[in-house]
Amino acid sequence: MAAAFANDVDLFVIGAGSGGVRAARIAAGHGARVMIAEEYRIGGTCVIRGCVPKKLLVYASRFVHEFAEAAGFGWTVPPATFDWPTLIANKDKEIARLEGVYRSNLEKAGVEIVKTRAVIEDATTIRLLASGARVRCGHILVATGGAPFAGHPIPGFEHAISSNEAFHLPALPGEIVIQGGGYIAVEFACIFAGLGARVKLVYRGENILRGFDDDVRSHLRNEMEMRGIEVIVGQVVTAIEKHDARYVATLTGGRKINADRVMFAVGRKPNIANLGIEQAGIRTAPLGGIAVDAYSRTSVPNIYAIGDVTNRINLTPVAIAEGRAVAETLFNDNPIRMDHANVPSAVFSQPPIGAVGLTEAEARRRYGEVDIYSAHFKPMKNTLSGREERTLMKLVVDARSERVLGCHMLGPDAPEIMQGLAIAVKCGVSKRMFDETVGIHPSAAEEFVTMREKVVRPTKLAAE
Ligand SMILES: Cc1cc2nc3c(=O)[nH]c(=O)nc-3n(C[C@H](O)[C@H](O)[C@H](O)COP(=O)(O)OP(=O)(O)OC[C@H]3O[C@@H](n4cnc5c(N)ncnc54)[C@H](O)[C@@H]3O)c2cc1C
Repeated sequence: MAAAFANDVDLFVIGAGSGGVRAARIAAGHGARVMIAEEYRIGGTCVIRGCVPKKLLVYASRFVHEFAEAAGFGWTVPPATFDWPTLIANKDKEIARLEGVYRSNLEKAGVEIVKTRAVIEDATTIRLLASGARVRCGHILVATGGAPFAGHPIPGFEHAISSNEAFHLPALPGEIVIQGGGYIAVEFACIFAGLGARVKLVYRGENILRGFDDDVRSHLRNEMEMRGIEVIVGQVVTAIEKHDARYVATLTGGRKINADRVMFAVGRKPNIANLGIEQAGIRTAPLGGIAVDAYSRTSVPNIYAIGDVTNRINLTPVAIAEGRAVAETLFNDNPIRMDHANVPSAVFSQPPIGAVGLTEAEARRRYGEVDIYSAHFKPMKNTLSGREERTLMKLVVDARSERVLGCHMLGPDAPEIMQGLAIAVKCGVSKRMFDETVGIHPSAAEEFVTMREKVVRPTKLAAE
């Protein structure tokens, strides 16, 4: 399916983030003439103000626990001090390096980069706002990502920061209120707490991390509270007042909390505003974002959309896989339907979470009878470190076929362990195969292949 008519480019990619960069490079590698427009920085959310800087901050925030735990192993660590500006400067240096790598990889692949906002004029025309130039395109790929949800009609909302600003604060807040219960809110709560801030996490729902397994959610909340984070559920921030350099957040019940910063991490919205999708006739999806089919094709046949702007599964590896699928489909005569089943995910909380497949509740809804295997233990390191933290592992198994429907873990290295298990789950692994697999000893991961006893649930829960 190569480009069908004479054009300036075969593929115009709007947005040089995770998905756009991958699609552009692969398409160019297959001989397509590709142009990519980026209005901010090459690398997009993940590299510039998402996964990568976040993970660097997560690493920074873990040292405090390592220092505390070292004593049980015979170490005497002098009182540690932390310097936020050093961390931020080093992080920025690394992000700039990565941005350079992304740029040079695009250039090496022969992709033309234009630093501008791009808008769609019609099904085959892109306008570059910086120069006003128009580009005729065989295909257009919308990969504009998403942005923090910013429309809260509460007094003083302008004083709140989002994750974007959290990466560039001039100083570490001593006290911070974070509203939100999703993974970004939870991760930042753990980062700030680990670095020494007093953190209050405010969430309107019953418990944090909706969509994750209920046992994991409760366990993490407990661990966060043990680390001094106050988790306030069933409430929201209703107003923010600024008093000199401090803020007062008022909660639903009237409680007032003083803080150095108030952060909102209450979801993200796809970047579709002022993009020209209406005049091009591109339909949007009921849940927001651009509507696409299994090949990421929009309602306009030569326009595709991938990544967060389609609001399917908003994760970097998903955007990358979707980008690859589009480039292969269009320029390598290799049609690929993106498979969104069993996408693993992680929360880089402390301790972290790794998960793949169905939660127990989802599995019960879809499969009726499921068997649950679970391990709840003190990791070996904590025997000498003195830390009370416990690891949770859980397998959700279809009682009829014995297929493993979901794996969940909360504990050190959970994301690393889950990546391997995700391959097995994707292959349709059975519980018997887990049982036949020999463990690696001594490790936490070996518990996944040694769980033999089914968890007996109260009848009411099992029937839900
Ligand atoms: C704080 C945070 C932490 C995260 N952590 C993780 C994680 O740990 N793991 C994970 O998998 N995912 C994580 N994510 C999600 C991940 O960053 C996104 O899923 C991923 O970046 C989506 O890629 P994308 O290509 O769809 O869009 P993006 O990476 O958002 O790229 C879109 C690009 O398009 C540009 N753009 C937008 N409109 C235009 C226009 N009209 N013209 C030109 N350029 C335009 C933007 O400037 C941006 O650079 C995190 C996100 C955040 C905010």
